[in-house]
Amino acid sequence: MVEGLAYDRDSGVYIVDAWAEVVPGIIASYLIPLAGGRAAIVDPGPASSVGRLRRVLDSLGLRVSHVLVTHVHLDHAGATGSLLKAYPDAVAYVHPRGAPHLAEPSRLWESSKQVMGDVAEAYGRPEPAPRERLLETRDGERIELPGGRVLRVIHTPGHASHHQSFYDEEAGILYSGDSAGIILETSVGVVRAPTTPPRLKPKLYIESIERMMKLNAASIAPTHFGLWGNAMEELALQKEIFISWMNILLEIYREGVRSPPDAAKRLALRDPNASLIMRSGGVVRDFFLYETVWGMLDAIERGEWP
Ligand SMILES: [Zn+2]
Repeated sequence: MVEGLAYDRDSGVYIVDAWAEVVPGIIASYLIPLAGGRAAIVDPGPASSVGRLRRVLDSLGLRVSHVLVTHVHLDHAGATGSLLKAYPDAVAYVHPRGAPHLAEPSRLWESSKQVMGDVAEAYGRPEPAPRERLLETRDGERIELPGGRVLRVIHTPGHASHHQSFYDEEAGILYSGDSAGIILETSVGVVRAPTTPPRLKPKLYIESIERMMKLNAASIAPTHFGLWGNAMEELALQKEIFISWMNILLEIYREGVRSPPDAAKRLALRDPNASLIMRSGGVVRDFFLYETVWGMLDAIERGEWP
């Protein structure tokens, strides 16, 4: 099998390492084979990786027919336009608030470059997606895929106002995107953390986790990274960590700390998850601790917590 590709026999789902050529093991796409050589893909990944993704699809003899977009951020939906171009029959399911950014990505691109700089360049500039093949979802909608698999759409704002999750009822898999934090295998062990860049909506983030807990899912597939069992415990843990980080950061903020790396250092002294991410260092620390702390401090500054 191609490097950066794993297969889950129980569910029949492939886990594609969507950024394998840059930083392996942090951004996932989920590939669901369907009847007739077709495939659905949850979060196709950054635009810069579309060539590799197509090689993966070719090696499996699959062509994409359904793109399921949890949210339009460059690391997850950047490849959507290029994929729709490559597969003229494919459609993409996106939250109504996200669809305009896929059809006309220039504003998203400019603002991402401003916020992320070189990282945005590494993700690549998204190609516009054909408007008529962007299907805007309704909360609770059931997407029936060829061969009988059904995915339920759950709108899960908080991380972003246009975030949605997908639930495969029969397989019991919840594709949570970035709405329920990260579960990431790193050099220092498995780390869990919220994923909350600006502009985080803390109360919506919690409500979305609570909605997903009602599904009674067996497994959870966050886009950072992989398929994990015990979905209910994972969701409960994510809610707990989120609330704990917000409360600790509120105290740190009130002591006058404003810089995310400084606040993250203090948080790491008091929270084992933050401490583990701090120890893992590098991109994991920068992406999943500093950015999250930044989003939380920003929400506190806007008066959205408590
Ligand atoms: Zn993400």
